[in-house]
Amino acid sequence: MSTTVLPSYDEVVERYAPVIGLETHVELGTNTKMFCGCPTDFGGEPNTRVCPVCLGLPGSLPVANKAAIEATIRIGLALNCSIASWSRFARKNYFYPDMPKNFQISQYDEPLCVDGFLDVEVDGEIVRIGIERVHLEEDTGKSLHVGGATGRIQGATESLVDYNRAGIPLVEIVTKPIPGTGAKAPIVARAYVTELRDVLRTLGVSDVRMEEGSLRCDVNTSLSPAGSAEWGTRTETKNVNSLRSVERAVRSEMLRQAAVLDGGGRIVQETRHFHEDSGDTTSGRSKETATDYRYFPEPDLVPLAPDSAWVAELKAALPELPRVHRRRLQQDWGLSDHDMQSVLNAGAVELIEQTVAAGTTPAGARKWWLGELSRRANEAGVELSAVGASPAQVAELQLLVDEGKLNDKLARTVLEAVVAGEGSPREIMAARGLEVVSDTGALTTAVDAAIEANPDIAAKVRDGKVAAAGALVGAVMKSTRGADAKTVRSLILSRLGVEG
Ligand SMILES: [Zn+2]
Repeated sequence: MSTTVLPSYDEVVERYAPVIGLETHVELGTNTKMFCGCPTDFGGEPNTRVCPVCLGLPGSLPVANKAAIEATIRIGLALNCSIASWSRFARKNYFYPDMPKNFQISQYDEPLCVDGFLDVEVDGEIVRIGIERVHLEEDTGKSLHVGGATGRIQGATESLVDYNRAGIPLVEIVTKPIPGTGAKAPIVARAYVTELRDVLRTLGVSDVRMEEGSLRCDVNTSLSPAGSAEWGTRTETKNVNSLRSVERAVRSEMLRQAAVLDGGGRIVQETRHFHEDSGDTTSGRSKETATDYRYFPEPDLVPLAPDSAWVAELKAALPELPRVHRRRLQQDWGLSDHDMQSVLNAGAVELIEQTVAAGTTPAGARKWWLGELSRRANEAGVELSAVGASPAQVAELQLLVDEGKLNDKLARTVLEAVVAGEGSPREIMAARGLEVVSDTGALTTAVDAAIEANPDIAAKVRDGKVAAAGALVGAVMKSTRGADAKTVRSLILSRLGVEG
C-alpha cells in the first residue's frame, strides 16, 4: 500500500485556489409523495408505504403534488430566484435497484426556479452565494447491504431494497461555482449549508435533518494553480451527512487534490464518498454527464405554469428570514457584532433562543452554550445541538444557579450528569443530594465538627496562623459537598474568634 504525504493546508491555499459548489437535496415535508398519495413519514416497515405509482407498475400514472410545487416556489423566492412562468418535468433515465421505475422524474432544462442568491455571513463578512437553480424531483428508495462488516455492498451477502422513500418530493438546490474564497472555502461551504438549512426550516418546508437524510449535501471541489484563470477538474463528494462534515469534506478534498497535482498527477472527474470516521474521501464511480441520462420531457405530466398572481401571493407571505431574524435577536439580547458572531460560529442561535424561551436570561443561556457545552461538543466531535443537553435543561440549570441552589462548580457537575443522560438538573440534584448549603445552621454544625476533629489546627488558627484554616475549610467542604468556600472560611474564623 502506498502512502501519500499530504501537504499542509497553509501550503495548499498558498499555491492553489479552490472553487467549490454545493448541490443540496431536501426532502419536502409534504403529507404525501410527489406523484401519488402514499404517506411520507420517516421509517416504517420496509415496503409498506408504496403503491402502483411509486413502484412504477405498468399502467399507473403520476399526478403532481401541488403542496410540493408551492414549497419549491417558496424556496426559490426565499433564495431570490426568478420563478419560471413555464416549467416541465423530465425523465432522467438510469438504472439503479433502488429506483423502481428505472427512471427518475426530475427537471432538466426547464426548472421551476433559476438565478438567485443567498447571502452568508463568514467571519463578519457577507459572502454572496449564487444559486443556479432550484428544481423538483422525486427521491429514490434505499438499498440495504447486509452480511458484511461495513454495511456497504463490498463483502455483503445480501442486498435488500426498501421503496418507502421512493417518490418522496425532493428539491435540489444547486449553487453556481463559488471561486475566490481561498483558505476559507471549507467554512464558506459550511456557512452556506447552515444558512440554507435555517432558511428551509424557517419556511417550514422540511424537517432538514441531516442525520435522517432529509437534507443531503454533495460537495464539488476543484483546485487550480494560484493566479490561473482556468478552473481545475472538479470532484463531487457524496454522503456528507453533517454540517461539520461539509467543512471537513472540502478541506480533505483540497488536501488530496493538491497532493495529486504536486505529484504531477491529474484529477479525475468522479464522485467520491466521504467517510465520517476518517474524515477522508475515497473514489466512487466516474461521474455521469447529462447525456448519459437521456433526458426527455416527461410525457405523463402536464407542464407547470405557475400563475404570477399566485407567486406574488406566496412572496408576500414569506416569513421573516433567518438573517433578519438574527439581527432582531442580536438587538433583543444586547450583543455586539463580535459576540453575536461567536454565537453564530458555535451554531448556538436557536439553542439560546429556545433556552431563553424556557425562562432564563440571554446571558445565562449564552454562558452555558458557548462555554461548557461548546467545549464538550468540540471534544466529542458533535454538533452543539447533539451534545446531550436540551434548551429546557439548560434553562432549568441556570434558574437553579439564579435561585442560589447551585453554585458554579456544582452546576458544572450537574451539567455533566445531564449530558450523560442522567435526567433533568432537578432530578440529578435530588438523586445525588447536591445542593448549595446556604443554611447557616447546618454549616455551623459542620464547622464545629471540623474544629472538634482537628484541635491542633484549630489551635494554630487561634494563635493567628490564619493560613492553617485552609485545612478546616477543606474538611467542611468535604462533609457538606455543596458549601460555598468563602462563607465557610469566614464562619470558621468567626467561630475561632479570629478576624478574617
Ligand atoms: Zn405511492
